[in-house]
Order: sequence, then C-alpha cells, then structure tokens
Amino acid sequence: MAKEQTLILIKPDGLVKSLTGNILTRLSEAKLVIVGAKVVRPSRELAEKHYEHLKDKPFFNDLIDYIMGKHHNTHRVVAFVYQGENAIQKIRDIVGDTNPEKANPVTIRGAYGRITTTGVFENVVHASQTPEDAEKEIKLWFKPDELVEDIYPTKEIEVEKVKMLVWA
Ligand code: UDP
Ligand code: MG
Repeated sequence: MAKEQTLILIKPDGLVKSLTGNILTRLSEAKLVIVGAKVVRPSRELAEKHYEHLKDKPFFNDLIDYIMGKHHNTHRVVAFVYQGENAIQKIRDIVGDTNPEKANPVTIRGAYGRITTTGVFENVVHASQTPEDAEKEIKLWFKPDELVEDIYPTKEIEVEKVKMLVWA
C-alpha cells in the first residue's frame, strides 16, 4: 500500500470541549506522521469549498455556520495533515461514523459527538474520505510551504504588488 496523506480538522465543538489533546492521543494510535499543522480561522469561502459536495443538502447552511464556529462562539479550527501507509482508512477507523449516534462509542465521534436539535451532526473532527478528497482538501487548507514534505507537484510563480499583513 502506498503512502497516503489525509486532512484532519478539529472542528469548533472539539475545541470548545477542550478535546485537542485527547483527539491527538487517539490519532497517534494510527502510527502516522504529522507533516502539517495550524490553527485556522475559516472564511465562508473556504468552508463552502470544503463542503462543496453537500451544497444541495438541507443542512448545508447550518453546516457552514458550524465549521465557521458560529454555533460555538469561536472562529477556530485546527488543521493537520497526517501521512503514512493507508492513512485515510486508519484515521477514519479511529474517527468513526459520520453520525455520532451510529458511531462505535470507542471512536472519537462515538465518544464525543452529538446531534443538535436542528439536525447537524456535531462530530468533533473531519477526516478525508478518499485520496481525491484528501488532495482537494489539503490544497484548500495548506500552502505548499506549510507542509514539511513535498506531497503534490508545485510550481514557482512570480507575483507583483501582493498585499499582505506583516508585523507593524
Ligand atoms: N453532516 C450532517 N448531517 C448529515 C451528513 C453530514 O450534519 O446527514 C455533516 C457532518 O458534520 C459531517 C459533514 O456534514 O461530518 C460532512 O459530511 P460527510 O458526508 O462528508 O461526512 P464525513 O466525511 O465528515 O464523515
Ligand atoms: Mg466527508
């Protein structure tokens, strides 16, 4: 089996419930390597691209609010890229079923997830489902130089007049 990478997000409910350490301890059982990590304030655009495949679902707007932290009075998500053999399946097994009530109670979602009264699955973490999803998601959440491995092909471009924030 070839090396794979997968995107993990600790969603806002995972953060406000102080589960970061616990989640990382559980994920470490997969014996994979972290090649990228950061705290992100997701824009609406990022959130909508990430969940593009669900845009026709009745819960889509609620889901976007959830991942943007609007249900938890925060605007933080912590993002990781894990790499290793069979990474996607290994992580999904530890994360558990999408529906926290169907998830095995020993999984992260089974232990800590819940379904809100509006029907959104607050399931604490995101984990990529396929290599194609992983590539799309990693490229959305990370820039090439934020990863310590060269995972996907890159190119150098020259940019002029770019506005960016620097320390004042
Ligand atoms: N979701 C939901 N209700 C559903 C299906 C999905 O609230 O019936 C939410 C849930 O938070 C889930 C996310 O939408 O994690 C993305 O859905 P997907 O089917 O990709 O599940 P996942 O890959 O996260 O297990
Ligand atoms: Mg998914």
